[in-house]
Amino acid sequence: MKLKVFRFDRENEESHYDTFEIESLPGMTVLSALFKIQEELDDSLAFRYSCRGAVCGNCAMLINRIPALACRTRIEPLLKGEGKIKLKPFSGIEDTVSWNPENEVLVEPLPSLPKVKDLIVDMDKFFELYRTVEPTFKPVFESPKKEQLMQPDAVKELEKYTNCILCAACVGSCPVSGKNINYMGPAALAKLYRFHIDPREADAESRLMLANSKLGWWGCEFHANCKAVCPKGVPPIEGIAKARKEIKELGKKPD
Ligand code: SF4
Repeated sequence: MKLKVFRFDRENEESHYDTFEIESLPGMTVLSALFKIQEELDDSLAFRYSCRGAVCGNCAMLINRIPALACRTRIEPLLKGEGKIKLKPFSGIEDTVSWNPENEVLVEPLPSLPKVKDLIVDMDKFFELYRTVEPTFKPVFESPKKEQLMQPDAVKELEKYTNCILCAACVGSCPVSGKNINYMGPAALAKLYRFHIDPREADAESRLMLANSKLGWWGCEFHANCKAVCPKGVPPIEGIAKARKEIKELGKKPD
C-alpha cells in the first residue's frame, strides 16, 4: 500500500507530496506506517506523537481529508472504505488532491492551524483560544468540609465534555474556525460549557457570558463536523446550542 504524505518546510515555504510504498501489516495504524517510513525510507519526515494510545491528542492530522488521531486510525478499514465520515465541506478539507483511496492513504497536517513542518502544525493559537475560557475549576468553597455530591444526571452530562484530550481535530474540521482564526472554536467552547454546567462552580452565569459574542457561542454555524470527528465523543455543538438557549432564556443579547 502507499501513503501520500504532505511535505512542508516553513523555512522555504515549499510544499509538495511524497508517496511512500510500504508493506501493510494486519492492524497497522497510520502512526505505525509513519514510523515505518521514518525508520526505513525517509528519516526527515516530521510528525508529532506521544502516547500512541489515543490519550495525549498529539497525533491529530488529516487522514483521507478527515481530521483524526493517527494512532487510532487503522490502514485496512481505510483502504476498504469502511467507517467513512461525511463532513460539511469547506476549503480546509476540500477534495483538491488526487489519490487512489483503494490503495493509498492521504496524510496531511490539520487544516486551519499554521503549518510548521510536514505533518506538524503550530498549536499556539489553539491554546491561546483555549486559555481565554479560563479552563480551571473555580469552586464555591476553596476547601469544602465534606464531599460535594452530584446527581447522577449532572455527572453524566458533565462527563461528555470532560473527556476532551485537546487534540484539535474538531478545530481542524470546523468551517468557522477555518475562516476566522479568532473564533474560539469547538474545543474551547466545549470546555467552557463543561465548567458552566459543573454544579460545584461558583458562578455559572459569568462562565456563560464569557463567550456571549460572535467569536464565541454565536459564531457557531451548526455544521456538526466537530462532533463527527471527535475521537473522544465530545459533542461541542450540543454544548454550544444549550448555552445559546440559556442566554436567550436569560433575555440577554450577544455582545
Ligand atoms: Fe479533540 Fe474532541 Fe477535544 Fe475537540 S473536543 S479537541 S476533537 S478531544
